[in-house]
Amino acid sequence: MRRLLIVLILLPVALSAQSRARNVILFVADAGGISTLAAASLHGYGAPRRLFIQRMPHIGLSATTTASQIVSDSAAGMTAIVTGERTHNGVVAQSAGAVRGKIDGEPLKTILEYAEERGLSTGIITNDSPAGATPAALYAKANNRSLTAVIFQQLFAPRFGDGVDVVIAGGRGTVAKALAEAGLELESLGRDSGRPVLGSLSEIPAGATRALTLHESGDFDLDSAIDLAVGMLSRNRRGYFLMVEWDAHTDSIRRGLDRMVALDRAIERRAKLAGRETLLVFTADHSFDIQLRGGLLGQPLLEGLEKAEEENPKGPIRIPAVRMDSGHTGEEVLVAARGPGAERVRGYMANTDIFRVMMAAYGWPLPKSTPARGKTPP
Ligand SMILES: [Zn+2]
Repeated sequence: MRRLLIVLILLPVALSAQSRARNVILFVADAGGISTLAAASLHGYGAPRRLFIQRMPHIGLSATTTASQIVSDSAAGMTAIVTGERTHNGVVAQSAGAVRGKIDGEPLKTILEYAEERGLSTGIITNDSPAGATPAALYAKANNRSLTAVIFQQLFAPRFGDGVDVVIAGGRGTVAKALAEAGLELESLGRDSGRPVLGSLSEIPAGATRALTLHESGDFDLDSAIDLAVGMLSRNRRGYFLMVEWDAHTDSIRRGLDRMVALDRAIERRAKLAGRETLLVFTADHSFDIQLRGGLLGQPLLEGLEKAEEENPKGPIRIPAVRMDSGHTGEEVLVAARGPGAERVRGYMANTDIFRVMMAAYGWPLPKSTPARGKTPP
């Protein structure tokens, strides 16, 4: 009887421990709104609902408005997702007290910084520069996203733990140029900080637990990058946080949709490899102005695209199936999740709720300032 009682008392503890995530991987399709997903499925597979993320078990819709604007950029969008607080376009992980390019707001603590503080390993993969607004929102604070040198140097001066352990990114030239303008040099900055700046995935030493890799271009192999990053990060028994950003802007329609399909395949592959301790979350920082306007099933979605682009290289694009007007749009984006804590993704959400979902999955208490689920901060 007493033994049964002990089992009954401990059962909820065991169950709740089991439903916690040791690891979280946040996948962000930059500008990958719902219409982009619909088009990517038709472009990649010739039919709707063929993307893996469209078949994930837990889905919700996330509003993408900023503290002041209806249509978000990557800086404000990602800040909301990773800090649980909204700010203005152009501002990187600072509170809405910031004025872009003029006045600093309060620094906002990010999910990556919480993970660092607790001794987890952390990583960022992006086909953008590591100082791009989306990845920057995880480790840097700046009142203007265009302060590339200021942002990049913060990689070497972490506020919590030992900073981002694994960075696999593009934009080497962009960063080097911005540093040079500030009188700095990329290689020596890395060397002096004890973090050599590698140039490709093949340069990462076997057995490494940290690596900073900046490719010249962003079209490195995504699957290999994720495999390498997870290999390094999972050497930490406490777990890890990894963010993977892949650009899905469709101002170049074919490139954007191809990248969306590639990211989706990488998520499917990782979902098959991830154990039961890893929460996978997919979302977009904001949507993009691409629409399905016609066309027939069974015919290539992008028929006529090359000719239309020739006539109008900067858009807008009008082809039988697709209409594209370059620019972000302000409607809700998909949030999809699987793994421990994924059930909290449901219904219409605020972009700030995604931060809450990740914190709750790890079992970490929320900071007092975090707004309630679905609430729009003043
Ligand atoms: Zn973006």
